[in-house]
Order: sequence, then C-alpha cells, then structure tokens
Amino acid sequence: MSPGTPETARVLKFGGSSLRQGSDFAHVAGLVEDREEPLVIVVSALNGFTDEILDALEDVQEGQDHVEGFIEHARERHEVALAEAAPDLVEEGTAALDPVLEEFQRLLYGIAYTEELTPRTRDFAVSFGERLAARLLSFALQQRGEDAHAIDADELGIVTDGTYGLATAWMGPTRHNVRDELVPRLQAGQIPVVTGYFGRDEEGHVTTFGRGGSDYSGAVIAHALNADALEVWKDVDGFLTADPERISQARPIEEMTYDEAAELAYLGVRVLHPRTVEPLDESTIPILVKNTLNPEAPGTRIGPPMDEPEHLRAIGAREGFAIVRMQGSGMAYTPGVGRDVFATLGDADINVVNMAASQASFALLVDGDDAEQAAQLIREAEIPTVENVTVNRGFSLVCFVGQDIGSHHGVAGRVFTVVGEAGVNVNMISVGSSNVALSFVVDDEDLETTLSALHNEFLIEDAPEVPS
Ligand code: ASP
Ligand code: MG
Repeated sequence: MSPGTPETARVLKFGGSSLRQGSDFAHVAGLVEDREEPLVIVVSALNGFTDEILDALEDVQEGQDHVEGFIEHARERHEVALAEAAPDLVEEGTAALDPVLEEFQRLLYGIAYTEELTPRTRDFAVSFGERLAARLLSFALQQRGEDAHAIDADELGIVTDGTYGLATAWMGPTRHNVRDELVPRLQAGQIPVVTGYFGRDEEGHVTTFGRGGSDYSGAVIAHALNADALEVWKDVDGFLTADPERISQARPIEEMTYDEAAELAYLGVRVLHPRTVEPLDESTIPILVKNTLNPEAPGTRIGPPMDEPEHLRAIGAREGFAIVRMQGSGMAYTPGVGRDVFATLGDADINVVNMAASQASFALLVDGDDAEQAAQLIREAEIPTVENVTVNRGFSLVCFVGQDIGSHHGVAGRVFTVVGEAGVNVNMISVGSSNVALSFVVDDEDLETTLSALHNEFLIEDAPEVPS
C-alpha cells in the first residue's frame, strides 16, 4: 500500500467534550497538524450546543419570536470561536457559516409557523450543530496550512435505515458513497472534516444516530474506508478499571475488546457511545480512545478478542434501580407468564435491566423512576397466577467485565466469595447471559464497599502500568 490509499488512513473523531470554544479548535488543529498519514476527521457539535438546539426547538414551537434570538446566539458562539481559531480566515469562515445559519433559520421559521415539530424536523434541526462545527474545524485547520474541507454526512451519503433519533447505517451503500467521495480527496492530500451524528435515509431525509452518536459515525467511516484505526478523542484518558470518583486507585486500561467496551458503555460509562463497536465488530480495526488534554497518555486500545488468559478487566456500577417482584403459587406451572409480563412492560417502553426467576416468583430490575408504573401495569394486566406485586427501591447494579467471564467456572465463585467476605448481601445475579459480563445487584449503601473489595482483590495487581 502506498501512502494516500485509504487503507493507511486514520479516522479521528473529536467530540463536544473537546470542543467548547475557539481555543479548543486551535488546540485540536494543533494535534492534527503534524500527522503524516491520510486523515479523515469526524466532528460533533460544540459542547452543549445540541442541548441548546433541543431547548430552542421547544421555544420555537410557541412562536416565531424565538427564532432570530436563537440564530443570533448560534452565530455569535460560532463566530467568536472562528475568530480565535482562524484569525486570518474570518472572512472566508463567516462566508461558510452564513448559508448554514440561513438554512437553519428557515427551518426554525417553518417549525414556528406550523407550530409542529415532527421527528423528521427535529433530526434535521439538531444536525445543524455538527454542520457548523465541521466548518469551524476546517478553518482552524486551514489556519495551520492544512487543506481541510467540511463535508456534511448527508451529502457524503452515509445512508441510514430511516429511524429518526436512533438510526442505523446501511453499510453497503454507505461504503460505496464514502469511498467514492473520500478516496480521491485523500489521494489529493485533503483532510475531509465530516459531520458526525447523522446520515440520510434513502429518500434523503436527515436521520440521527442517537445522542452521542458521532462516535458511531466515526466507526461507520472507519469501516467504510477500511481505515487503519479509529481514534476517538475525548477529555479523559480512555477507559479506567473503575469510576475514579468511587475508587481512587482506578487505572487506565491499555487494551480491551469491543465487547467489553460495549458492555461498559451500555452500563453508562461515558467514554464511548455503546454502538460504536457495531460497525467494527466484523473487522480488526482498532478504536483508540485518546485524551485531547493529555495527548501523550497511551489511552485505551479497543479491538477484537485477544489471545490472553481469562481475566477481569473493569468494574462498573449504576445506582437508582428498583426491584419489582411478583409471586404466585401457580406461576411455575402456567406457561406464558414471563411473556405477558415482558409484553406489558415492553408496550410501555419500560426496560428490564436484569431478572431472576424461581418456581413461584419473578424479580425484575428496572430503573427506579419506572418502578411504580411497572408494578401498576403488571397488576392491571391481570396475568393469570401473578399475585402480590411489590416494589423495593435503593439498588445498584454492579457489573464486572472481562473476556470469557461468563464461560469460566470459578470466576463467579471467587467474585461472590470476596463480596460475601466484605459483608455484602447480593440480591440478584446474572451470569452466563453475556460472555463478557457478570452482573449482580446490591443495596445502594453497600455499593462503595462492594466496589472497593472487588477492585482491591482483582484489579490492582493485574491493572496495566501507567507510564509516567
Ligand atoms: N452532538 C450530538 C450529541 O450531543 C452527537 C455527539 O455528541 O456525538 O448528542
Ligand atoms: Mg457530544
């Protein structure tokens, strides 16, 4: 492979957490400046700007007086950043931002006149955060002499399944379009700066990948180009063995697998969007999580399963759950009880996070905010043999992540021995449903004890050394 082919290209994704203001754009441009390999950059909206758009959409539905104020605010925020990040290119940069702001304004007026916000117009409106940020970053790079150009993902042809707010990319047509457009640019030495977070469906409607979805966009583009890596730049040193706010000895993880990262992300560890690994799962393209505030740190390298002995990699936790329990002497003999319970909750969009069943009872772990509604719906459904539906609050979900954790006998035993010796009572256990996670439920007040006992026992010695 010669330099300039996409196989040697890197996809670099910069998120809102790294892009608050003009100096951040200048800093990010500096990180990119000296790189030799062909680069594609994927960018999210300025920090907090997507939330600002969503708030504005609420106001705009009430009437058109809110439109101009918000567009002025958007203009101001981006132009101030432009002046700082690309002082010599203010005129060109403003000329690039203007038509985007004008289109955004027309869309907001449309929403105001019709007093109607549909999933389609909402997705289109939130996409403007990324459209503005991509132009800003391209000028910050041009300021440093790079041949950088903003490209909107709908124009580029990231094709989605059309699910507003939670789209999935169709890799076939996307791959074709992305290569068609980006390969010649890379060969000409350009740095394409592509908007994250959205694509377009077959009819051309803008569809977003869900909040935080620019990581997913980065993975889609990396996969389409068969890139040599996806770098996800954040404001943290990658994944850690535990939440440093709970466990002071938590350490960065140097290497982990796609599945482990997804499991932690789904648990709410906010390093990577949980779906980022999806497009890469069938590939060997690594994801490197890097810190813009500490670029020398190795960060975390995420890839396919490694040839290594069984181990425990990280521990995650989330508070605020409730257990909904139901009993009934005939439950074990009555087919379809589980189906009815799950259908009832599924219809109300209540997510069951964990479950345990015995002969005459079911226990379901749900978000504390959903618990009363869940119990009420199950009572009202009058499912045969189900009696006595109760709610208990104050539970935390603990999740131990590591390759093959679900298939190795003995790991669970060791984990629960340590937890028991710490004097903690375990409420619900789920092992074996995932090959990389062992999860269980403890009382909120036992969470700190549980985490520190487990971290001390399993994650101190084996944790990778942090280079100084
Ligand atoms: N800007 C979008 C959001 O705030 C997408 C992203 O940040 O990845 O959700
Ligand atoms: Mg973001």
